[in-house]
Amino acid sequence: MAVDGLACRECGQRYAAEPIFVCERCFGPLEVQYTQGDLDGREHRDRIVRGPASIWRYQDFLPVSRVPEWDLAPGYTPLVRADRLGRALGLRNLYLKNDTRNPTWSFKDRVVAVALAAARQFEFAVLSCASTGNLANAVAAHAAKAGLRAVVFIPKGLERAKVVTTAVYRPTVVEVEGTYDDVNRLCLEIGEEHRWAIANVNLRPYYSEGAKTLAFEVAEQLGWRAPDRVVVPVGSGNMFVKIHKGFEEFQRAGVIPRHTVRMTAAQAEGCGPIAAAYRENADRVLPVKPNTVAKSLAIGSPADGGYVLDLARRTGGAVESVTDGEVVDAIRLLGETEGLFTEPAGGVTIGVLRKLAAAGAIDPDEVVVAYITGIGLKAIEAVEHVVDAAVTIKPTLASFEERVLALAGT
Ligand SMILES: *Cc1c(COP(=O)(O)O)cnc(C)c1O
Ligand SMILES: [Zn+2]
Repeated sequence: MAVDGLACRECGQRYAAEPIFVCERCFGPLEVQYTQGDLDGREHRDRIVRGPASIWRYQDFLPVSRVPEWDLAPGYTPLVRADRLGRALGLRNLYLKNDTRNPTWSFKDRVVAVALAAARQFEFAVLSCASTGNLANAVAAHAAKAGLRAVVFIPKGLERAKVVTTAVYRPTVVEVEGTYDDVNRLCLEIGEEHRWAIANVNLRPYYSEGAKTLAFEVAEQLGWRAPDRVVVPVGSGNMFVKIHKGFEEFQRAGVIPRHTVRMTAAQAEGCGPIAAAYRENADRVLPVKPNTVAKSLAIGSPADGGYVLDLARRTGGAVESVTDGEVVDAIRLLGETEGLFTEPAGGVTIGVLRKLAAAGAIDPDEVVVAYITGIGLKAIEAVEHVVDAAVTIKPTLASFEERVLALAGT
């Protein structure tokens, strides 16, 4: 497929492929358009399997080209069968997409790699972003590798490790006294006045396409087919919308057979504007003020909220939310059943999956893929107060036998 400019998602108005992101006619979001090309499904699959073990194996479905000397090789993360978690939830075909295995340990490396290639194409010298934490982390790392200046904007009060793991790459970290939504509004203004590449603002049409690779990989890893259902954590809603687009594009190009994927969105109750609209059968998503342990999802005014709502309804999916307590329980359940430590976003995903399964809203035989999008190590604060303390003993066999044997259950 080749890039054929941008088009408005709302009114269809066409634009040249430039660093622009809003329709001048109706203020709708702009998206990259492609021409189909003449490869059939098998030819596409052959090209993919010969490609690198990263998102760039799906180059034909992305709007930019890989820049080898800038490449941190994001993506191509494991899809693992989750039989033990599945048993706990009563699901017989559960898979986890372990996207903690990325260069900066979250799915944001996928979108940033594509934004970075676009920044180079449009010859920007500064790479920036409005971030809830993981995006800043990825922008700083990828910009360092490319030798670009990075200036990242975050709200106050993020997890310590997210700030430190970002600062290590020597970007300028700007902490804004406000919420993520304030940070985002500021970055919109900066983008209008200054020629900066702001990954999720003026490069959003390109950046957002990187998230399609989360669908491409799952389809390939399931043996070239789409799952019955995906459960996706939602902040702005971009990842959710683009995972759907990824499955659609693979079907249209004949890479996988036609199949409806039930798009299921997971939010935290402390920031669940889309879940609230879904519950109330409303068409509009009303902004909220976030207050949740899931800081990477704390976007009170989600840019793609309306599209998430529509896709969940049209595909037979759902939008559901869980409390912070349920998020923390889900992080621990995932850890103890599957040996995988997620940040709260993944706790939201597993918490919602658990809630829907318990309510009988998911057929036990459905092939379900739950996206684990970020690592727990960057958000220790969420669980450090609830995990069991170590058992302290003297370095003697007697002390071991007295205090440990019973605990080991032998
Ligand atoms: C950013 C982020 C999300 C949400 O992505 P959106 O595209 O904003 O909906 C989910 N999980 C993690 C770990 C993130 O960093
Ligand atoms: Zn428009």
